[in-house]
Amino acid sequence: MNTMQEKTYWNNIDENYKTYPKLTSNIDCDVVVVGGGISGSLTAYYLSQYKLNTVLIEKNRIGHGSTLLSSGILKAYVDKSLSVLASLMSEKQAERAYKLCLKSIDDIENILSNIHKDCGFEKLKNNHALFDPFKFCHAVLKGASSKGVRIYENTSLSSFDYAPEQMRVNTDTYHITCKKIVFTAGQSALTLIKDKIVNLKPSSTIVTNKLSKFDGLEEKCICNKYNGLSYNIRILDENRILAQVHGTDNEQDLTASNIITALNNLLPNIKNIEAEYFWKCSYPETKDSLPYIGAYDSLPNCYFNLGIGGNGEALSAYGAQIIKDLILYDNNPDTEIFSFKR
Ligand SMILES: Cc1cc2nc3c(=O)[nH]c(=O)nc-3n(C[C@H](O)[C@H](O)[C@H](O)COP(=O)(O)OP(=O)(O)OC[C@H]3O[C@@H](n4cnc5c(N)ncnc54)[C@H](O)[C@@H]3O)c2cc1C
Repeated sequence: MNTMQEKTYWNNIDENYKTYPKLTSNIDCDVVVVGGGISGSLTAYYLSQYKLNTVLIEKNRIGHGSTLLSSGILKAYVDKSLSVLASLMSEKQAERAYKLCLKSIDDIENILSNIHKDCGFEKLKNNHALFDPFKFCHAVLKGASSKGVRIYENTSLSSFDYAPEQMRVNTDTYHITCKKIVFTAGQSALTLIKDKIVNLKPSSTIVTNKLSKFDGLEEKCICNKYNGLSYNIRILDENRILAQVHGTDNEQDLTASNIITALNNLLPNIKNIEAEYFWKCSYPETKDSLPYIGAYDSLPNCYFNLGIGGNGEALSAYGAQIIKDLILYDNNPDTEIFSFKR
């Protein structure tokens, strides 16, 4: 069984992904995007469509953060029910957040059509969609690169400085002079935020062996509770199943064998399930299950597109559009829904 965190199912089936150089000189640009996961790729992609001179830096390798650990389920709804969400914000905002999940799925479909890629995208009857998050992250970034975005791997932001009219992103050796910085650095970016906005919970994922043809999973994706834990289950190629579980503080509950027991109970028609891949990580939860996107008061000229939570991947597509609007027009009608002040 493959248990290494840097090797999951996603980069095992797609070993020929593109690599990018390290930054080897001082450069300048309009916007630096910090972090090369799905949120950074989408942000760079949208900025590139509006001719903003953009540089993306990734401290390790593209797509090897949470993006590599995720389940690739684009949910049609927020993890909190509409009524609970409406109690945490206005009813209108809650309805809008629900609509934005659907819009983001359409946006992702449109991006794929623009860059002529498939990335396993499939819309389901229940309005969810499935895709390969790692392939998607790479494909979108390739699209951004063809529009002029410069991409550097193994290049980490170590600090940033403010100077009149410009900002400076410092890496270990070189610096990038820019007007704006967008942090898409996932959980690492939380160190810049004063308040505790995220609860980290343990999570485990298995990908099964190739199963013989089965009935009993009408939709290719189900999100269900079993023994009080939350399961996100989807079909992959070759009749494999991916099952991700979270919802407890106790890591001991999240073993591969417990996930298989849950699958045997939830999908009794499927026989001989074994785990071929297993990975563990922390699953960040926010109070309303929505990601944090936008400006942060104490950091002028900086923006965040933090694809956190169960809708993180879909909503980071809309997050990228919010960031683009804030940089170009200083305005987007949905900023309050995702704001750090909410
Ligand atoms: C187990 C699990 C399952 C999930 N499943 C789903 C799902 O099915 N659907 C969904 O919508 N969402 C899901 N999510 C959430 C999803 O993973 C995230 O929404 C998405 O992958 C986050 O992408 P990201 O680009 O924001 O972060 P990441 O993919 O973590 O990317 C951040 C990048 O920033 C880089 N970085 C950090 N610090 C620096 C620095 N100083 N300088 C340069 N680079 C830096 C990191 O190396 C990393 O590559 C899941 C999350 C988990 C944990």
